Amino acid sequence: MSSAPWDTVWVNLSVATMVPGGTPYGLIEHAAVAVVGGRIGFVGRQLDLPLRLHELPDGVVRDGGGALMTPGLIDCHTHLVYGGNRAREFEMRLQGQSYEEIARAGGGILATVRATREADAVSLTRSALSRLDPLLAEGVTTVEVKSGYGLETETELRMLRVARLLAHERPVEVRTTLLGAHAVPEEFQGDVDAYVDLVCREMLPLAAAEGLADAVDAFCETIAFSPAQTSRVFEAARALGLPVKLHAEQLSNLGGAALAAAFGALSADHLEWLDAAGVTAMARSGTVAVLLPGAFYVLRETRVPPVDLLRRAGVPIALATDCNPGTSPLTSLLLVLNMACTLFRLTPEEALAGVTRNAARALGLADRGELRQGHRADAVLWRVEHPAELAYAIGLNPRIATLRGGVVVAD
Ligand SMILES: [Zn+2]
Repeated sequence: MSSAPWDTVWVNLSVATMVPGGTPYGLIEHAAVAVVGGRIGFVGRQLDLPLRLHELPDGVVRDGGGALMTPGLIDCHTHLVYGGNRAREFEMRLQGQSYEEIARAGGGILATVRATREADAVSLTRSALSRLDPLLAEGVTTVEVKSGYGLETETELRMLRVARLLAHERPVEVRTTLLGAHAVPEEFQGDVDAYVDLVCREMLPLAAAEGLADAVDAFCETIAFSPAQTSRVFEAARALGLPVKLHAEQLSNLGGAALAAAFGALSADHLEWLDAAGVTAMARSGTVAVLLPGAFYVLRETRVPPVDLLRRAGVPIALATDCNPGTSPLTSLLLVLNMACTLFRLTPEEALAGVTRNAARALGLADRGELRQGHRADAVLWRVEHPAELAYAIGLNPRIATLRGGVVVAD
């Protein structure tokens, strides 16, 4: 290699570093970003580069053409891997059929469970890629994928293997979450505790032994698992050394967020019904609030998460697509930015932090989400003048290029 201290130096940029505590968005105008070994070696004003550009070997300096650079986007809550879809159910509902009629016709989450159990790894991978690709087209460089449509050991593990495989098929890092306690499968209706036993004694240990799960999640809700059952899942995760997350306070307030916080959860997600005690508990444990405006929109909810309380308590707020076939068939993280601002009144800066810095934290990743020295050089170049444009526009994708580990990703 050359004697240059850096592999690449990007110049002629504005950079929204998303490093907190300085300018809004951590914005630097007339900026340069240098990459070495896949990490950021320098980020700052171009004038402050510690060497002269013309002294660098050919090919090292790249002209950003005045683009805005942000950290690579992180979708920290998805259910990308599943069989079938629920478009027919969507249509039936809009034709006036009730939830019960749809359930009797085989709809609802158990329809997805059936389709997922029947799908082999090849078809699950193919359909997951069809949802992953639009995320990547908008600059996603890290994505979380949950299991939870198998509700039996074999299919749950297959979902996680498929999720891991996605990272071999596309230039993206995948973080996997075991969500065995997503819903009660048909065969355990009437004996939910026996299903929780299966999750704790079989699914979790096998997933951990195969290295398939980076975290463990559950759905704590009246229609899913009680706080006591959720606790058992978390105890089992803790025994295996796996961090936890929780679908909490989406449809009612069961105190799930406080429970998650007591287990030092990485995040509590949804949170429309979160109360002040839950906010305090999350602030104390450093648990990230992951807001999911796509599900709020699809379910036509009216109760918004307590954003002001979260802000005042200093709880980091992340955003995600919650991409899933039932309540959020959404594959645009840019649309999530707009929804979070419009529906939940986040500022555009908070929204962008929600899919960069705070999304990294929701996944327990300390090496990304901000453009700062030593971090992974995962970044996106955008054809915009100001970062607020990313949350403002609806249906526009101004991405020019994605860098992963400092290398421009082929489209
Ligand atoms: Zn979810």
